[in-house]
Amino acid sequence: MGDRRHQRKRDFEVSRGKNEKGDPKMKYVVNESCIGCGLCATTCPEVFSMTDAGVAAAIAEEVAEENRGSAAEARENCPVGAIEEV
Ligand code: SF4
Repeated sequence: MGDRRHQRKRDFEVSRGKNEKGDPKMKYVVNESCIGCGLCATTCPEVFSMTDAGVAAAIAEEVAEENRGSAAEARENCPVGAIEEV
């Protein structure tokens, strides 16, 4: 969901690769569609946080295994589809 042509990387560079265990890295970015509802930060505070600008940002460099379920739930429930897996 969302228009990728207008996607901007906001808070960190996207990187791909594998971690030291050989698992594919997984992380999220929040794009400019965010309306600052706070749902993601409530659902998965280990990965999403609200900024001073009133929008969400993904704070985890890499989503830990134990947080993947709640992070995915946050992405699925974002009302404007602003969370993207990278
Ligand atoms: S759930 Fe979506 S709209 Fe709400 S704060 Fe998170 S990224 Fe922004």
